[in-house]
Amino acid sequence: MKKKATLKDKLIRYRDAGLPIIYINTYEEDKTDQIISAVFGSPLKIEEWNSASGLCDFKFKNPYNTANFKPEALEDTLRNLIKKGILDRTILVLKDVSAYLKESAVIALLKQIASKISSGKVEDCMVIIVSPVLVIPPELEKYITVVNQDYMEFDEIKKVIVNFLTANESKPVSDELIEQIAIALKGLTEYEIENILALAWSTNGDLTKKDLQFVFEQKQQMIMKSGVLEMVPLNEDINSIGGLENLKDWLRRKAKIFNNINKAAEYGVGMPKGVLIAGVPGCGKSLTAKAAATLFEVPLLKLDMGRLMGKYVGESESNMRRAIELADAISPCVLWIDELEKAFAGIGNSNGSEVTTRLFGTFLTWMQEKNTPSFVIATANDITKLPPELLRKGRFDEIFYVGLPNESERKKIFEVHIKKKRPTDFSNIDIVKLVSKTNGYSGADIEGVVRDGIENSFCDDMDHLTTEYIIKAIDGTTSLSEIMKDDLSNMADEYKKRNLKNASR
Ligand code: ATP
Repeated sequence: MKKKATLKDKLIRYRDAGLPIIYINTYEEDKTDQIISAVFGSPLKIEEWNSASGLCDFKFKNPYNTANFKPEALEDTLRNLIKKGILDRTILVLKDVSAYLKESAVIALLKQIASKISSGKVEDCMVIIVSPVLVIPPELEKYITVVNQDYMEFDEIKKVIVNFLTANESKPVSDELIEQIAIALKGLTEYEIENILALAWSTNGDLTKKDLQFVFEQKQQMIMKSGVLEMVPLNEDINSIGGLENLKDWLRRKAKIFNNINKAAEYGVGMPKGVLIAGVPGCGKSLTAKAAATLFEVPLLKLDMGRLMGKYVGESESNMRRAIELADAISPCVLWIDELEKAFAGIGNSNGSEVTTRLFGTFLTWMQEKNTPSFVIATANDITKLPPELLRKGRFDEIFYVGLPNESERKKIFEVHIKKKRPTDFSNIDIVKLVSKTNGYSGADIEGVVRDGIENSFCDDMDHLTTEYIIKAIDGTTSLSEIMKDDLSNMADEYKKRNLKNASR
């Protein structure tokens, strides 16, 4: 497997290429300082500006200007550095500046510095912005290169846990538990890992199997804070899906590979990449993503495309890279991209913006080259809106089409939902009758009529659920096929034309 470039590797590359502004998106300032020192230390001078000290010495953070006990404003610092012409052989590290990157004077001064660096008017100079918040003013976009913090490798996480246990004079903890905690902590930074361990420890002064759930919940919070991914709780399994037998069989085979990845690789089997599931709304696409993660025995990460599209130029791409890096760091995992067509619709035609086109490029390259066990499940309603490059072989392992459930599938879906809520009543319900009355209903419609039937039965003080209650609910529901009549038949034609695999048998 190709070794991932670290933050240090990237900084060395950018230094050698003479890039003007590097934006390190991180809140691990101490660790970043160490890396900056290692890459840029002598003979270059490193200066820092932060909001507490103003311009200061990078190593000890001692302010240069102590007059009035007020830190020098960023704008004044930048102006002075340009005026005095003392930027040569200087690395200028800026911290706490996200709010200032909205000020026109600061933007203009940074642009001046960047342009001097790019044109060679100052030598060996670079501005490094270190911030957990990404703000890229459009005026500076072409000068800024964004780089994200490093995620820790599995062995490094184990080392942090062992060091933590030693420092806290812990009683011996089994290697197995250390491994399990390390797996649960994948995808977090050293700072986050140390925080979670300290919190887990503080509850009862040790680290036991019981803390695993706590670690998992904390990680869920931290992933959420990253703003680009969400960790979805796994409450569904493959038996929660009624029908879609072809798709389920296919997933079972992929799960076998995924769960025996080393053995499969030795045998010559490639790493599964992912699947695109497209088709009719409410027919089990999202449900399948959730059930697949349970089947693969890995966490489910949901990529929210709406949140990914940032307000600032360059932010969306950086968010996409962060999401991808985070998914790779957490892997093995299932990465679920919902409503794919919303993110990449209009690429290649006049409706597609430059941002989406670039975002799409980042995603395609990752799909093409990815060799980590992060299995992508992309779901979409309308495949015709997706760019053709995405549908080419090599991106997804397979593309499935999900249509309205057929007779035997409707039977299974009724069974799933009645058994889930009223298991003891199931044998008394006339499923055949319900199936015959629900031609054209989606899985979500069927779930809805079962739910309504149960609710009404309860409100009428009935001891048991009866077939009639569900039939009443069916009579009061307009099926999806009626609501989306023309759309559904157009969709079916499109899928047939493209020869997509049917998820149903
Ligand atoms: P959308 O495109 O609107 O997001 P979807 O295809 O992703 O729709 P789901 O969210 O998977 O639809 O389905 C909605 C709900 O309908 C599910 O939570 C589930 O309860 C029920 N459902 C849909 N299809 C099935 C099915 N095949 N088996 C069991 N339940 C189903």
